[in-house]
Amino acid sequence: MTAATGEQTSAPLLEIRDLTVHHGQLRALEHISLRVFSGEVYAIIGANGAGKSTLLRTIAGLHTPTEGAVLLDGKDVTKVRPEKRAIAGIGMVPEGRRLFGSLSVEENLQVGATYARKGPWNIGRVYELFGWMRDRRSQKTSQLSGGEQQSVAIGRALVANPRVLLLDELSLGLAPVIVQRIYETLPQILATGLTVLLVEQDVSQALRVATHIQCLLEGRTTLQGIPADVTPEQVEAAYFGLGPAAPPAEAPGEEQLWSGSTPSSRAS
Ligand code: ATP
Repeated sequence: MTAATGEQTSAPLLEIRDLTVHHGQLRALEHISLRVFSGEVYAIIGANGAGKSTLLRTIAGLHTPTEGAVLLDGKDVTKVRPEKRAIAGIGMVPEGRRLFGSLSVEENLQVGATYARKGPWNIGRVYELFGWMRDRRSQKTSQLSGGEQQSVAIGRALVANPRVLLLDELSLGLAPVIVQRIYETLPQILATGLTVLLVEQDVSQALRVATHIQCLLEGRTTLQGIPADVTPEQVEAAYFGLGPAAPPAEAPGEEQLWSGSTPSSRAS
């Protein structure tokens, strides 16, 4: 798909077919399908518990689906182990970063390179992307700020040279200015040929960077489309599960939807 036209010109790089995932008795995802084309920034939005992390973790091989398939470049990887998926080109920045706090910045990056594919990214290139990092490469990551830790987590994923980078809630727990700085690195990451599938509760942030959005609610898809084609009211309705018949007087205006970091605080 070309980001500018929305036209599909090739097979998807990543495809999810009719995916259902359970955590014990709980059905966390139900018949989810999506197609991510090379060069896209595909954003999954949704409130707490919508199933966003479950989706990313299933793509990375950390959950086994009850039904459905995960395909990378047309190959079914549903039964492939997580480390083999990493070698095949699926990389993830997990929610909460999951760095080794007692290891240095550089040691964490070296961990990321364990299953590295050949490609443009290496530790030196990560230091170029995040200007502060080289000078502090010997510092333990537990001593870094949240934003700095998030940058190391991104760097750790990049040095594996993934084809598809899964980003789980980059903005979680970070001040808006820090979130903005982290997202400012996205064009440089995309310029090296990566495709991004990200999960965000911060709707305005997701819409700023996405070429395609998909909204989940209680494990089901409630909206899919190109950001330019969806109205704030449609996104709000999909996010909260409001029916189309909701009276206009109660529907929040554009200002309300886009100004907050997440509308989920109004969900209850
Ligand atoms: P959040 O933004 O809060 O992380 P999410 O959209 O990423 O939400 P998930 O974390 O995927 O949602 O959770 C979907 C549902 O599955 C929730 O009801 C959650 O409590 C449940 N869940 C997630 N992981 C597990 C697990 N390992 N065991 C049991 N239930 C789980």
